Amino acid sequence: MDAAPRSFDELPTDPVIGVPVPFAAGTEAGASVRTLDVRRVTQCALSRTCGVCGATLGRPLAFVGTPRELDRMAFHVPACHVDCAERLLASYADVADPVLGLDAPPAEWLLVTTASFEFVRPTKDDVDRRPVFEPLIPAVP
Ligand SMILES: [Zn+2]
Repeated sequence: MDAAPRSFDELPTDPVIGVPVPFAAGTEAGASVRTLDVRRVTQCALSRTCGVCGATLGRPLAFVGTPRELDRMAFHVPACHVDCAERLLASYADVADPVLGLDAPPAEWLLVTTASFEFVRPTKDDVDRRPVFEPLIPAVP
């Protein structure tokens, strides 16, 4: 696959909202934080790389998501380094609109850590065709 990992400070900036665009949302100039890029999400899942910086993951893993995602234990943003997840949350603190295709604005997002996850692809019967990440126990809010 393409797109080398880069440090948080080198991430592209969303042209409209002015916040860093995580690896999982796109890596091209002009990439947007409105939605995730399914190709990148899948790449992160299969290569076990960070959804923010694109580098290889260690443990623990962090997931950033909305309260509803936490209730379902099904996240859409790929697993991240804990540092990357914290920096993403800090960068998005003042963003009022839902971004990355999630169902709540960043002020409501949570960070959970876990040791591993399962990657679940949608089936043709699913209304929501986005793949999800299910953290494996223990997930710690
Ligand atoms: Zn990272």
